[in-house]
Amino acid sequence: MCGIVGYIGKRNCSDVLMDGLEKLEYRGYDSAGIAVFEKDLIRTIKTRGKLQAMQEKLANEGKPIGHCGIGHTRWATHGEPSDVNSHPHSNGRVTIVHNGIIENYSELKDFLTERGYTFASQTDSEVAACLLDYYYAERNPLKAITETMRELRGSFALGILFRDFPDRVYAVRKSSPLIVGVGENESFIASDIPAFLKFTKKFVLLDDDEIVCMDENGQHFYNGHGLPLEKEVQIAEWDVEQAQKGGFPHYMLKEIHEQPEAVKKTLDAYISNGVPDFEAVGLTDELLRDVKRVFVVGCGTAMYAGIVARYVIERLARVPVTVEVASEFRYMDPIMGKDDLVIVISQSGETADTKAGLELAKSRGVRTLAIVNVKYSAIARGADMCIHTPAGPEISVCCTKAYSVQIAVLYLIAFRFAYAHGQIDENVMKRLTEQLCGAPKSIENVIVQNDECQYIASQLVNVDTLFYIGRGLDYALSLEGSLKLKEITYIHSEAYAAGELKHGPISLIEPNIPVIAVATQRDVLAKTVSNMEEVKARGARIIAVCRKETEFAEGMVDMRLDFDSDLDDLFAPLPAVCALQMIAYYTSVLRGIDPDKPRNLAKSVTTE
Ligand code: GLU
Repeated sequence: MCGIVGYIGKRNCSDVLMDGLEKLEYRGYDSAGIAVFEKDLIRTIKTRGKLQAMQEKLANEGKPIGHCGIGHTRWATHGEPSDVNSHPHSNGRVTIVHNGIIENYSELKDFLTERGYTFASQTDSEVAACLLDYYYAERNPLKAITETMRELRGSFALGILFRDFPDRVYAVRKSSPLIVGVGENESFIASDIPAFLKFTKKFVLLDDDEIVCMDENGQHFYNGHGLPLEKEVQIAEWDVEQAQKGGFPHYMLKEIHEQPEAVKKTLDAYISNGVPDFEAVGLTDELLRDVKRVFVVGCGTAMYAGIVARYVIERLARVPVTVEVASEFRYMDPIMGKDDLVIVISQSGETADTKAGLELAKSRGVRTLAIVNVKYSAIARGADMCIHTPAGPEISVCCTKAYSVQIAVLYLIAFRFAYAHGQIDENVMKRLTEQLCGAPKSIENVIVQNDECQYIASQLVNVDTLFYIGRGLDYALSLEGSLKLKEITYIHSEAYAAGELKHGPISLIEPNIPVIAVATQRDVLAKTVSNMEEVKARGARIIAVCRKETEFAEGMVDMRLDFDSDLDDLFAPLPAVCALQMIAYYTSVLRGIDPDKPRNLAKSVTTE
């Protein structure tokens, strides 16, 4: 959510900042801006709208020429998206960009107003600029930052310029991501690595309450009291290629196509001698044996991956699993104890609600396991155990490959769980693992069906509403399929457990309404087919996502997207979800929407 960049070095700062902001576009934003020192003066250019609008403004007004500056893409939380509310914000001698929410901004605003400060914007962020100026009385930037940090409540990552120091960029963070890029005679700050990956692979992670000062001598780190810190320089595993579109029209399509490889890599990482092996992360059989109940906590797609996990872990290991929406879990005072395991799932590892869920579990002394795609993220670092999914960067706002690798990991955990609880023996665990290893091939089989998906999309492009139905694992998939469609096509859709239809929603079925029936689970197929009959009788157009060999009565199914696979039904979600992703993708494109940047959405939701 929102992007921060900062640069000091020999290059043209405006270009580096704009390039970095472009790499962070995936995070979602509504306005953008940069502030660059032109000799001793800071020049700020900002605008509501996309980076294209920024480029036009820079062309009209002339881009700032300098070597030190900060930039921002804003995702408005306080005050509408407008030129004046866009970042950077200046007040007094300080210019800042801010990501996050300052929860006590109203009190602080009163405090500062009483002391003569006035505010140009409606943002909470401007308060931080004023407060920094207020504490800058002694012209000591570090002191101003540490004093300000003591006052600010909420989450923030700040990039800061002090008017008196045209050769320094300061930054600080608390509960919002911020990474420092370490180049040859140049330094960067960014919300995410792709923003500077083209210039350097070396980076330092700022922890909560840590400060960095970047100048011509490099990066200097301080703790929240202003005392110097030694920080470890790490090397990013992702390369520039992975963070680019690689010939695909959209990141989303590229990431759908990366799924076979991503799942394979994930399985390779956590299988040894033909069975799941999580010893390296501390998830041992002894620990699993002790676990009497599991909570899976996540938001959106990650939470839906949890629903797949629930079916699989309960079926195989006979251990009860509860799946919770993180934003509810954190406030509902859940009953948890030392026999429980809380699994938190987040692609970015920065999702604010999921992180709060993790902290709640830890505060209750419950064991925690994180499944994240971003290794060095806050959730990865905060959990007792962490499984990293090696899917590479997921740039499109619409999550695809991260879901597949999450469920691949959850299957492996389920096998190990079942084994540790004596529900299956080593041979069965081996057989299940071997079966799962066939999934990448089945996924490939689906992603070549562009024509079929495009045809289905052409039939959905003008509808106002549609339904997804399924039972068991197919219901879990329906939820995910419906979310994908809503996110990137803006078509209203609902997912229902197929058996629930007649308890209410069937009243919404009118002639020609599309119903996507996910029908991969053979044990409940006959029941799902009955529910398909019910909607067909009321004029629905049925699109079946099923196996090639599944037969339906003549005339019942209007369109079908089938996959050829000898995978066990338990693993059908892996190929089937690709079909649902592709239907959503092509419908989005046909509706003229950019699926990588759907309106109102951000990739990594770092605010509550
Ligand atoms: N809360 C700030 C605002 O509304 C920052 C939002 C962001 O993270 O982009 O301007």
